[in-house]
Amino acid sequence: MVASRSARERKASVEAGPLATVRIDLDGDRQFVYKITCTTCLTRTKRPWSTYRAGADNGYLAAMDRWTFHLVEKHPGAEAPCLAFLPAAQQRLHERREQG
Ligand SMILES: [Zn+2]
Repeated sequence: MVASRSARERKASVEAGPLATVRIDLDGDRQFVYKITCTTCLTRTKRPWSTYRAGADNGYLAAMDRWTFHLVEKHPGAEAPCLAFLPAAQQRLHERREQG
């Protein structure tokens, strides 16, 4: 469990690119919780911008999608491997909206 968590954390960090800090925690049900924090943006309450999603692979995808949109919106020109999946992320966002 622990090894697979740190392996996932490394993979997610690489995918999210140099502007992100990725942490994977376990919640009370021993589910993965993905937290991606921006190293440069602050929210209105002066805390680092972050996105937080629980769940296995779908939690990972949802957190990474949200991070990808953050990069596109706030850091145009930034490079990160996850940007290659932007069209897929937009498609998933669209599908989630269709489902209400
Ligand atoms: Zn940012």
